[in-house]
Amino acid sequence: MAAKNRRRRARLAGAECRPYTLAQIAERDVYCCQLCGDLVDMKLSGLKPMGPTVDHIVPISRGGGDTPENVHLAHRRCNEEKGAYYDPRESRPLVIAV
Ligand SMILES: [Zn+2]
Repeated sequence: MAAKNRRRRARLAGAECRPYTLAQIAERDVYCCQLCGDLVDMKLSGLKPMGPTVDHIVPISRGGGDTPENVHLAHRRCNEEKGAYYDPRESRPLVIAV
């Protein structure tokens, strides 16, 4: 269900879309949360704060694709903290001064 919604959202946004599974991403990222660096317990439900979720590196709302290259493994807690920081309704590109 979640994967279906994710792909639908990506398609509506005109984003590139290639299939992947949470298990594939978790194995590639050696079961470590890519936001805090701690291990992710794959036995937990993705609805638990420390449960596994797939986080989009470049959010779909900012033109990121729903592809294995643009996602990484993250705890739900870490994913939601990041999500609060990057407001998905904000559509202007993020400009970072270098
Ligand atoms: Zn984390």
